Amino acid sequence: MKIIANRKSIEVDLNISPIVGPESQGVAAKKDIVVLHETVSPDYVGFADIIQTAGYLAAHGLGIHAVIDLEGYLGWALNRRHDIFYHTDSSGNIGNGHINTRAIGIELVSRVMLDEKTQALRWKAWLGRQKEINKLGQLLAFISSADDIPLTYSNGKVPGITTHWQVTKTFGVQGGHVDCWPFDKGGYFPMGVILKRAQFYQSLGY
Ligand SMILES: [Zn+2]
Repeated sequence: MKIIANRKSIEVDLNISPIVGPESQGVAAKKDIVVLHETVSPDYVGFADIIQTAGYLAAHGLGIHAVIDLEGYLGWALNRRHDIFYHTDSSGNIGNGHINTRAIGIELVSRVMLDEKTQALRWKAWLGRQKEINKLGQLLAFISSADDIPLTYSNGKVPGITTHWQVTKTFGVQGGHVDCWPFDKGGYFPMGVILKRAQFYQSLGY
């Protein structure tokens, strides 16, 4: 399988560049933010959920750098880490974050927000997705090391790791998406766990 090499290599299960590559809007000089998304779509065995996510985005003129699923499979747009893909609207009544230029986007297959009724149950469901969290931790460690992006929570303005919910809130995006709403900000997404996991993998050499 294809590998993205850094200090420690990560196995790429599927190269999604052939799917999302045509939707690239150019290449940014520097990326300093990562935006996490949930697909709000079902889990399928194998790569079907990854292919469906990338294909859906591409069919709508959108794109993404990575898709990770429940099984811990990673779809990665090889050699397009600094490409500009449309994945996060950051133009709102509190300004424009130019997030698609600044950020690497990662889609996490999850429909936790629809399947579970309360924030506590959604949090618990997310913690049951450990293979997905581990792969995300490895990928964030890789990106952090490769692009010198801190493994700390970002409000969408400063360098670091943020979520689609946060970008919508920070820039006042009307009707903006609210996926990956962090548990410690009143939501359910285990952002703190994920950052700690990423820091752990970075300490292992990723
Ligand atoms: Zn999103």
